[in-house]
Parts: sequence; structure tokens; C-alpha cells
Amino acid sequence: MQLSIIGCGYLGAVHAAAMAELGHTVVGVDVDAHKVAELAAGRAPFFEPGLPEILRSAVASGRLRFSTAMADASAAEVHFLAVGTPQQAGTDAADLSYVDAAFDGLIPHLAPGSLVVGKSTVPVGTAARLAGLLAERAPEASLAWNPEFLREGFAVKDTLQPDRLVYGVAGGAGDAVGRAQAATLDQVYRAAIEAGTPRIVTDYATAELVKVSANAFLATKISFINAMSDIAEATGADVTALADAIGHDARIGRRFLNAGIGFGGGCLPKDIRAFAARAEELGRGEALAFLREMDAINLRQRQRVVDAAVGALGGSAFNRRIAILGVTFKPDSDDVRDSPALDVAVQLKGLGADVIVTDPEGIENARRRHPQLAYTSSTAEALRGAELVVLATEWSEFRALDPAEASALVARPSIIDGRNVLDPARWRAAGWTYRGIGRP
Ligand code: NAD
Repeated sequence: MQLSIIGCGYLGAVHAAAMAELGHTVVGVDVDAHKVAELAAGRAPFFEPGLPEILRSAVASGRLRFSTAMADASAAEVHFLAVGTPQQAGTDAADLSYVDAAFDGLIPHLAPGSLVVGKSTVPVGTAARLAGLLAERAPEASLAWNPEFLREGFAVKDTLQPDRLVYGVAGGAGDAVGRAQAATLDQVYRAAIEAGTPRIVTDYATAELVKVSANAFLATKISFINAMSDIAEATGADVTALADAIGHDARIGRRFLNAGIGFGGGCLPKDIRAFAARAEELGRGEALAFLREMDAINLRQRQRVVDAAVGALGGSAFNRRIAILGVTFKPDSDDVRDSPALDVAVQLKGLGADVIVTDPEGIENARRRHPQLAYTSSTAEALRGAELVVLATEWSEFRALDPAEASALVARPSIIDGRNVLDPARWRAAGWTYRGIGRP
């Protein structure tokens, strides 16, 4: 099929390359000329495992092109909207200006019969509003919403082999137009459908809500265990054993029950805020008031780590050398948007600490946002002379650190395991003062 992807960031670039990998002819359109030039040359503009390989081969095959001109999307039968929906400055609501601008720019280039498919995460009601605009300005085209669930770090696999497909179609599953839209999307995702991927065809509002409620649930699960970690700390209990034990209950499950410095990134924080803000607009703010609390618990975790760091240094971080291991919001990504690790580093720097940050992939992005921090690409360099080490992002190379080798580099063998991924007994045996989150 002929596809266009409007917006080629973490979501759109992977979607474009993956769709070309599946055999479709794809044009990716973005307003960022530098990003488009990189992608067109077959270079991934951000770190995502597996993306460079499929990008290179798809560009070389001629099935994948990139452009800054919306007119280049005009040949496509299906147009995916994958632009950003960040938090609005000064409020919790989503900023829909990118979605609106992209939609507006695309309308004059829509061929009769073409399908516009929203992938961006949007407040419920957005698809119905855009469908209204389309009915006025390009009545021969139609709109569906197909939320995206990919995880950074696994984005290629999640796009090629999603765990479910959700189609929000015009009029819902029972409508003739909706059924035709679903059939078109089935063609796009034929490989996944043939592999037995569950597929839910529903109306716009449900599809929009599926995405934000999934993120709300995941955020709640993380904040729940972080709240337990606070109680564990006050009582001498071990939150990791607690998570293992409750996680054996199949109704609860062990995943997303790791206490630590909390969630971040370009999705969960802004999505739960936007969801709560949308509920307020709908007059149902009380229903999602708990999400405000989940957000507060999450942000408190960052403060708890900062406080623990100051405590570990005897009450003041001023002029003390602190090594921060990890700056991205999660491992296997270079994304530092709303990263708890970066936040902790900045807060400690604000307290006068001599902070040095290392990360396998995130330094460039972090430096752009926070040039006041010192960075090194070498873990050994970061550890050298440190009076405190904070493991802030659980990259495998930090999990695999040898405590004896690390202790030979630092000035004081004291570590805060902000992700509860190290073996406390092993680190203590090597002479370290080990502090986890909610662990004795
Ligand atoms: P991003 O900021 O990495 O990418 C957005 C891209 O859109 C940028 O490259 C930007 O230049 C481009 N853009 C902005 N306005 C444009 C316009 N008018 N025309 C063309 N391009 C335009 O954001 P992202 O992380 O890829 O997220 C995109 C959407 O997908 C968001 O709604 C997000 O919530 C959702 N989402 C993201 C992920 C993820 O893991 N990153 C997962 C699921 C859903």
C-alpha cells in the first residue's frame, strides 16, 4: 500500500521504517528539516535498537522516502498522524497545536477515498472533532484513530509484532464506513493480523480512552509500589520481596512493580496529567482525582532519592562529588524527556554538589537541556573520586558493574540504587554502603 506518516519522531520514524519493512511504500513527512535529512540518508536521528537496520534497508530498497513537504504525501491511500502531543505550557492539558497544524496541512493533499489514521495520543473527543473538520473540508476522505502502544527500547518489535491492534473507526464497528476503514487497516497490518494479533474495532472515544487508560493503569501500578516502598522504609520491610510475593498473584502480576525513582519520559507523565485535565473538562474530575495522587507519589520518589543522597553525604551535598549513572528516562533509549534521573542530577547540582553524569546514549540530549551539568561517556571516569554513586537508570552495563572494581575508583564506596537492580549483599560484601528504595 501507499502510506504516509506525518511526524517522524520516536513513534513516526519507527512506524515509517516498520511499514516499509512490511512491504508498503512509505513517505515520512516532518517539519524538522535536519531530522528529515538524517532519515533520508538512512540514519536514525535517535537511539532505538534495531531501527538503524530496518531504516537503512528500507531507504535503500526505495520503498521509504522522507520529505518536509506535505504535498509529497498526496499519493498515499492511508496517512498516519504521528506528531507530538506534549503537555501545554502552564497547564496539565495536552497541547494539540501540532496535531491541528499537521491535520490542517494534510487536508488539501488528501485524495478521494483516502484514510487519515491518528496515532498520536490525544484527549478523548479529538477524533470526533477532527472528523467533523474532515467532513466539511475533504468529505471524500475519512478518519480513524489507531492508538500506538510501542515502548521505547522495544519500538521496532512492538511495531512489527504489536500485542494488540485497536481501531477507532467512524460510527464504530457496526457502521459500514467504519467496517471499510477497519478492512483498510487490516491490509496495512496484514502480517500482524495473520500472526493472530488481537484486534479491537471500536468507536473513536473508546480507542482514544484505551490508550490513556492503559497509561493511567501502568502509572498507577508503578506509583502503587513506590508508595509501598515508602511504608517499607518506615518499617524495615523489603519492597522487592513484597513485589515478588504479591506479583505471584496472577491477578496482580510482577511486571511494573519495581520500586525506584519513578516513571518519566515523553508519555506517562504528560498523558496522566492530560487525562485528568480532560476529565475535569468533562465534569468528571473526581473520577480521575487519583491520577493527581499517582503523579504526586511519582514526583516524591525523585525527592526521596535527593534526600537520601544528602543523608548519605552526612547532611550536605555542597561541593561533594556525586556520580549519576544513567540520565535517560529508561534504558535502551536516548530520550531524556521528563527523565527522573536527569531531574535528580539537576536537583543535586542545585544543592551545590559536584555532579558528574554518565549514560550510554543520553548525554547529548541531556546536555542540550542542562548544559550546567558535567558529563562523561566513561563510567569509570564518572566513578573516579565520587563520594556517592546514584544508579538512576538501569542500563545493563550499570547492573553488571563489579562492586570491587568500582570501589577501587571511588573516594567513598557509597551507592544509592535508585532502581533496586543491584544485589545488596554482593555490594555490601565488597565494602559498599548500599541504599535501595524501600529495602532495609
Ligand atoms: P516526537 O516529539 O519524538 O515526534 C513528533 C514529531 O512530529 C517531531 O519530529 C516533530 O518535528 C513532528 N512534527 C510536529 N509538527 C509537525 C507537523 N505539523 N507536520 C509534520 N511533522 C510535525 O514525539 P513522539 O514520542 O514520537 O510522540 C508522538 C505521539 O505519539 C505523541 O502523541 C505520543 O504521546 C505518542 N506516543 C509516543 C510513544 C513513544 O514511546 N514515544 C508511544 C506511544 C504513543
